[in-house]
Amino acid sequence: MKDKEYRFNHETLKFEAVKRPLRLRIYRLMRKGIFVIIVVCIINLIFSFVFHTPKMKRLARENEDILKKYEVLDDRISEAERRIEAMHERDIYVYRPLFGADTLTVDGIYTPYPDSVYDDLKDAPNSERLISAWKSIDQATRSLYLQSLSLDELQKLASDKERMATAMPAIWPIDRRNLRNNLSSYGRRFHPIYKRYIMHAGLDMPADIGDPVYATANGVVESTSIGLRRRGYGQQILIDHGFGYKTRYAHLSRIDVKPGQQVLRGEQIGCVGNTGGSTGPHLHYEVIYRGRTVNPVNYFRRDMSPEDFEHIIQAARETTYEVME
Ligand SMILES: [Zn+2]
Repeated sequence: MKDKEYRFNHETLKFEAVKRPLRLRIYRLMRKGIFVIIVVCIINLIFSFVFHTPKMKRLARENEDILKKYEVLDDRISEAERRIEAMHERDIYVYRPLFGADTLTVDGIYTPYPDSVYDDLKDAPNSERLISAWKSIDQATRSLYLQSLSLDELQKLASDKERMATAMPAIWPIDRRNLRNNLSSYGRRFHPIYKRYIMHAGLDMPADIGDPVYATANGVVESTSIGLRRRGYGQQILIDHGFGYKTRYAHLSRIDVKPGQQVLRGEQIGCVGNTGGSTGPHLHYEVIYRGRTVNPVNYFRRDMSPEDFEHIIQAARETTYEVME
């Protein structure tokens, strides 16, 4: 050992190793050890500042990789959102109107979840991106849920479609061969006696007293009434067809149905008359959709040429058969 010291022994005339106390030797050994450790640490520190260790390099590469994957994920989520949005618009503007359904809304469906829902992700690496991705996915899930509700509803409407078709007031309430004169149209028209514009809520069809009046769609008789002698609708029938449709038949001479009775399209329900505020035998026919009168001609099947149809409509604008108040 290097730290061994030798002294000349004058008695034995030899160099002899000086024996040091054990404690001192251990102390020296420890001092050296600590020194070596400190030096190694410093070198390692300097080394790691200047050069990246393979492990650090690997971690950095992995991190970069993850960030790239997040970008791809964000793109995919955006793409999915766009598709859902397109589907939603088709639903609102095409599919639901086909069935006459209003836009479907569910309360709170677009309200994001509270931030506390994402607390678990806060400590994760890249937590901000992770949380934003989660939020987008949750939003998309809510949109899809809304969409699935809408499809359920449309499926039900589609299975009702046949019934719905028979509920549409699609035929004429009298035989058109029985028409005696021009129709009188729906809408505001100038009254020749009162000299002012008055709303006419139905279509007037002049015919002979006693000509049959037909239900224009399947339904249930909601009410019948005798009415006043010289005013109003006179004898009338109101039929509820469901799906928001009702029809009214007025100024009748005879009523063949009772309230609550089921009627089929084309079934005779009464006869043309001249009761109530009427100036000549005719049928006043109304179509009511969701509580409002609409123009009945829009519902007739067009089983005539467009020219004939236009001719009838034009003539109808110039004719009145009723005492209107
Ligand atoms: Zn009328």
